[in-house]
Amino acid sequence: MAIVQAARRKEKLAVMFLDIDRFKLVNDTYGHQVGDLLLRKFAARVRGCLRTGDTLARQGGDEFTALLPNIGNIEDAYVVADKIIEELRWPFLLGETQFLATTSIGIAVYPDNSTNAEELIRCADMAMYQVKAQGKNGYSAFLPDMHTAHLDRLSIENDLRKAVKEGNQFELYFQPQIDAECEKVVGVEALIRWRHPSAGMISPDVFIPIAEDTGLIITISDWVLREACAQLVRLKEEGFGELRLGVNLSAREFDRADLLERIRLPLDEFQIAPELLEIEITESLLMKDVENIVARVKHLRGTGVNISIDDFGTRYSSLNYLRRFSVSRIKIDQSFVRDLNRFSDSFAIIQAIVGIAKNFNLQLIAEGVESDHQVAIPRQLGCNEMQGYYFSRPLPSKQLIEFLRLSKEV
Ligand SMILES: [Mg+2]
Repeated sequence: MAIVQAARRKEKLAVMFLDIDRFKLVNDTYGHQVGDLLLRKFAARVRGCLRTGDTLARQGGDEFTALLPNIGNIEDAYVVADKIIEELRWPFLLGETQFLATTSIGIAVYPDNSTNAEELIRCADMAMYQVKAQGKNGYSAFLPDMHTAHLDRLSIENDLRKAVKEGNQFELYFQPQIDAECEKVVGVEALIRWRHPSAGMISPDVFIPIAEDTGLIITISDWVLREACAQLVRLKEEGFGELRLGVNLSAREFDRADLLERIRLPLDEFQIAPELLEIEITESLLMKDVENIVARVKHLRGTGVNISIDDFGTRYSSLNYLRRFSVSRIKIDQSFVRDLNRFSDSFAIIQAIVGIAKNFNLQLIAEGVESDHQVAIPRQLGCNEMQGYYFSRPLPSKQLIEFLRLSKEV
């Protein structure tokens, strides 16, 4: 109806697609009752930002659409979107808990983007996805090239589903971790590779976020854990029984209550001491600082499994979590190590991180060491382990065993 009217009066209208960021986390952590309450309060606040004559509707789940008839140009829609984002800077009070709920908003305009109602909503949806991909909590207008970007994502998603089902397209590589003093291999980090049947190797940077969004990450991580544990047994049979195994887990996994069980399963199956397993998590997980996550990480640590913080120093500046979570090791992000070659602050940053590790009684590993210089400096500063191309790139299972044999002889 609004389109018919706009056509008759030669006016423009905007469609907004809103999706609450990380809403699933609220439902999973606090239950659906709290989730529903948040939805209602969210809707009320958004409605308060709209003009008289605008319509807000719930699409389903945590998705809403807004119809903004009679706009002069897209900037009018931006004003409303700005207002919504601004309004969401204040937390919602649900029971005893305060929630910050941000939203991602996509905007499409009639007749610029389409003259068809369904198509307009689809365009707004695609624009919303773009905002999600770029870090959420914001808005974006629909751009024609989003059509192709969206298609790419969809086809990767489909192929990923197939790969997970068939299970023979993933491979595990292992990157050796070296003791800085004696240069012996002390551990390996398991890294997943996806060999797509037609597109070749697809980087984890591309498919892991999609796996996280679609929930496929759970099956993928289970595969990684099991495969990595199987490899650890193989290494033991070859005479390398003391190696530590690093496995990366996505923050998403910590939303689920069965995490411990899923980690325990392969350890039991292959009779691996939990102390040999080190779960690598990123700082962004700890930023959430949700009680549930604190409890899960602590519980995990209580079983003997080690926890390391990956990409340390890149995301979050508060050190509070080092105290709250019982972390065993921090991995100095490779960007700092790489910058050591140039004149930069990296030296001071690494020095500071070493100081933090010493004071919190944590182990340290420098990632991405590639040159003599990048090995010498962290070593001189007191970093006890290293990982990087200088020693070895990530290796397929067979080559890893060869590498270990050679380094044993040296
Ligand atoms: Mg890692």
